[in-house]
Amino acid sequence: MIKSLLIANRGEIACRVMRTARRMGIRTVAVYSDADAKALHVRTADEAVHIGPSPARESYLVGEKIIAAAKATGAEAIHPGYGFLSENAEFAQAVLDAGLIWVGPKPASITAMGLKDAAKVRMIAAGVPVTPGYLGEDQSVTRLQAEADAIGYPVLIKAVAGGGGKGMRRVEAAADFAEALASCRREAVASFGDDRVLIEKYILSPRHIEVQVFGDSHGNVVHLFERDCSLQRRHQKVIEEAPAPGMDEATREAVCSAAVRAAKAVDYEGAGTIEFIADASEGLRADRIWFMEMNTRLQVEHPVTEEITGVDLVEWQLRVASGEPLPKRQDELSINGWAMEARLYAEDPGRGFLPVTGMLERFAIPSTVRATRWLHEGGTAPMESAPDVRLRVETGVAEGDTISPWYDPMVAKLICHAETRLEAIVGLSKMAWDARIWPVKTNAAFLGSLVVMPDFTRGMIDTGFIDRHLDEVTADVEMPEWLRDLVAQRLARRDPAPATIGFRLNAPSQTAVRFSDRSSTWTGRADGRVSYGQEAYPIVTDEGDALLVTMQGTTWKLTPERVSGGAGGAASDGAILAPMPGKVIAVEVSAGDTVTKGQKLLVLEAMKMEHALTAPFDGIVAELTVTAGAQVQVEALLARVEAAE
Ligand code: ADP
Ligand code: ADP
Ligand code: MG
Repeated sequence: MIKSLLIANRGEIACRVMRTARRMGIRTVAVYSDADAKALHVRTADEAVHIGPSPARESYLVGEKIIAAAKATGAEAIHPGYGFLSENAEFAQAVLDAGLIWVGPKPASITAMGLKDAAKVRMIAAGVPVTPGYLGEDQSVTRLQAEADAIGYPVLIKAVAGGGGKGMRRVEAAADFAEALASCRREAVASFGDDRVLIEKYILSPRHIEVQVFGDSHGNVVHLFERDCSLQRRHQKVIEEAPAPGMDEATREAVCSAAVRAAKAVDYEGAGTIEFIADASEGLRADRIWFMEMNTRLQVEHPVTEEITGVDLVEWQLRVASGEPLPKRQDELSINGWAMEARLYAEDPGRGFLPVTGMLERFAIPSTVRATRWLHEGGTAPMESAPDVRLRVETGVAEGDTISPWYDPMVAKLICHAETRLEAIVGLSKMAWDARIWPVKTNAAFLGSLVVMPDFTRGMIDTGFIDRHLDEVTADVEMPEWLRDLVAQRLARRDPAPATIGFRLNAPSQTAVRFSDRSSTWTGRADGRVSYGQEAYPIVTDEGDALLVTMQGTTWKLTPERVSGGAGGAASDGAILAPMPGKVIAVEVSAGDTVTKGQKLLVLEAMKMEHALTAPFDGIVAELTVTAGAQVQVEALLARVEAAE
């Protein structure tokens, strides 16, 4: 087995790979650019080597520097992660030439699948169904136009060297073809240095179905079932799940065995993904799923497969790279439950998904579906939750870290594994909606709203889903008035009152609280009843002299300014009312006790917080109507203090 490993990547995938390496007793070496000097992946590694300035092309994309770092630290092997140099056959070869182990497929396999047209030609030869289209050498405009006309519109023009959703143009009609081709070529040259294209029939009701495959150096290849990655924006995956909704056994068998044939055709070793496009207009059918491309690396969405199969894919990669056979045979692999992943980005969906940078003053993601405990710390935190719903976070940042403008703005992957798809949706929406992130804007609200859309919950999805529902799921959310009132109510009644805010306990006459946030100041009413929908569970936490309020994936920071209303008078009736519906978790006095002003009487758990209710003045407990464990309604009388004579 490999004893030391250099990870030629950054962010969450570097942290993810290191976690498994460490568990296997393998020493880890990180590489980093200027911008990442203090990054979590650097802090996580046993050793770290600086490889250059912040731009990736001067650091993470410079193969020689990475190989030199491996040599200098005595690392035996290099894991490329995804992106960067992971599908660069020349780099893989250079790693091998340097006498190091490459944790990935043979360079020849990468090359065979590197260009989309050559890959499809090979797949046709291997008997794998491919998307109908034109793959020819003749790249003249007239020929391409004639082929597109023959295929029938809509068609998709794709850069043969494309990737990451770039270099693709959908063309609706013959008249638009030439212009789309020209623009596709410009993008292809700029991004990939290759202007060659292929043409595919644009599949209607398209679903992205992909199969995880794994090969070893002993000629074994297995599949680890399929994933559905149909929820996309600009051809980039947003939500991924495994298994695919609506997949029957016969179709699964057909697509998975086609994937194994595809991998065998290129003598595949290590982790790989065969991507298919399905025409789902009549559900998933074996005769309507076609090969699209192969990604010859570990995929961003690999955790959903890990969750349903119980396999650690990084462990398998390291074992296979060390020359071991695959740890399991095909008949030892099976699907257990349902897993779903969402890509959390530092971006602003309300402004065209503009990337956002900045320091993560707060960064916490729920670790259970019930409680308010948060998982963070770069995926190293324990993954605990309710018994049959597991929440998992993969991230490359921790609270206090900064999202820089230099790299992909993905902050974390939120993953939920449960027995059923609907339970996985509940868990995932909880993670997205209760993510407490400040002040960096994220797509958390967008993600949570997407997965609870009725058609999504019914599995009625295709790659156009997000675009069709964009307005519904990207609207900027103003803090609702009822929520302001609820916070005002809570603030006005909490105790002990922080000196900076100056609130008084349980004083019904304090009816209004002035707040300010980034842009405005308003008054929240602290009296009266506040009703809120069952689906909305705000989380309110103290941040010194301010409050963070998180609801459905949006976080607001409020600074209370002052309380209006005469505080003294009305408190004199001494009634201790429940400030909101909740559970009495402690009763610290008995009827008849003498109490002093500010003394804690009861503790109520409500709105996911504990609220201490205290005596408004010196006196005796004249009435006590509850015991610990009682559920109480808002405004319920809990106790009454009578003033001492
Ligand atoms: P694809 O979208 O190519 O089918 P994936 O879903 O696995 O495959 O996404 C891989 C993409 O992730 C890369 O094309 C790249 O844009 C992006 N990426 C590369 N490196 C990193 C990284 N360290 N952290 C986050 N994203 C990255
Ligand atoms: P990339 O290398 O950028 O990942 P792919 O060939 O994998 O490119 O395509 C990316 C996405 O574009 C797919 O996931 C799918 O949503 C869409 N797509 C690709 N080919 C087709 C097609 N023939 N018909 C419909 N949609 C397609
Ligand atoms: Mg792809």
